[in-house]
Amino acid sequence: MRRVVIENAHVATVSGDEYPGGHIVVEGDRITSVGPGPAPETGAGPGEVERIDGTGCLATPGLVNSHHHLYQWASQGMAVDGTLFEWLTTLYEPWSKMDAEVVAGAAAAGLGWLAKSGCTTSTDHHYLFPKGRGDLFAAEIEAAREIGVRFHPCRGSMDRGESQGGLPPDEVVEDLDTILAETEAAIDRYHDPSPGSLLRVAVAPCSPFSVTRDLLVESARLARAKGVRLHTHLAETLDEEEHTREQFGMTPAEYLDSIGWLGPDVWLAHCVHLHDTDVKRLAETRTGTAHCPSSNARLGAGIARVSHLLEAGAAVGLGVDGAASAELVPLAGELRQAIYMQRARYGPAALNARQALEMATLGGARCLGREDEIGSLSPGRLADIALWRVDGFRAAIDDPVIALAFGPTPPLERLLVGGRTVVDGDTLVTVPQDEAGRRGADAHRRLMRLAEEVL
Ligand SMILES: [Zn+2]
Repeated sequence: MRRVVIENAHVATVSGDEYPGGHIVVEGDRITSVGPGPAPETGAGPGEVERIDGTGCLATPGLVNSHHHLYQWASQGMAVDGTLFEWLTTLYEPWSKMDAEVVAGAAAAGLGWLAKSGCTTSTDHHYLFPKGRGDLFAAEIEAAREIGVRFHPCRGSMDRGESQGGLPPDEVVEDLDTILAETEAAIDRYHDPSPGSLLRVAVAPCSPFSVTRDLLVESARLARAKGVRLHTHLAETLDEEEHTREQFGMTPAEYLDSIGWLGPDVWLAHCVHLHDTDVKRLAETRTGTAHCPSSNARLGAGIARVSHLLEAGAAVGLGVDGAASAELVPLAGELRQAIYMQRARYGPAALNARQALEMATLGGARCLGREDEIGSLSPGRLADIALWRVDGFRAAIDDPVIALAFGPTPPLERLLVGGRTVVDGDTLVTVPQDEAGRRGADAHRRLMRLAEEVL
């Protein structure tokens, strides 16, 4: 069995103690020992153990990205000054022409970039399935397998196109029966519920304002029958609240609550505009929130009430959101973005470095229903570990967690996913790093070419 021993690192377990000069032992895909001082003897011969000297490094659980749209790598830097609705209506045009090749390249670059910022588990919310353009869902799953991160793709959907008063063009929306059949097929084909799983599928209609009530209700029924999780966007902008108040006489959160969409098997992206009663309801139903501070700032959506959600005991994870609304955002950088935005709005005690680290790890794991397996460092947990270099210029800060959370993303000495090295010496090693970047650029150029084609 493969063994890895990390010693002399500052180990932040997140779920419990921190050990300056501590150790972590990995056997196979699991952690077998975490604690102060040198590692206990493993009984293995010298050739059977890889020893990593963590001097000058901080070890944390691998970060969990709880909300993303990988395809957007191909459409970054566009509609840069618009509101969410203006941005969406501009981008639906090129998005409606994307094919499996675009998604494959965008996902390889997006996941490679995430791994480089300490992410060991990522979700993805893919909700655009233009007809006749290949198997887009399969393309991103293949990319995740190549990069080597744990992957929770959400089979998204939209069923309200322009002709039904929705925002997206009709060619990217699907009808209810097709969505349910395709989503069920995706779960049957890919979802792996076994312990240590590298791939779990969730059901994810795009947002309450882009789908019908029937789709939300039927999606929840399907997900619960199959034992998979539910995800959507919620309360990202005030426009959305206007819409649900007009249509249903409720806030977006009340609307979801009224159709059985709050619960421990649900996590929601953004939740920027919440009322006190909504915050309380999310906490008492154990509904998760994926906080994406850079995206919220980039689109001028607002500042989510993350500190209030945490205070109420709700599960909150961090996410980068799609690269089209948060260009080149590293997941580790969202710790600082989250801290700064909460403090700018609610004062210096609103969010601290360790709370932000917990959101980025255990909070995300709770959103994905995997807090027993990932998001913390302890014996029995999966060996998803980020080893950050906090020496050099960073060494003037005594507390390495502050260096990670307050400073720019540190270089990664090592990133392990289930004990397997994905990043080594700050370089992606599962696929050539340059190739991942090139594939993302090629995906962008291909999408721009497809967008100009008259069909
Ligand atoms: Zn999103």
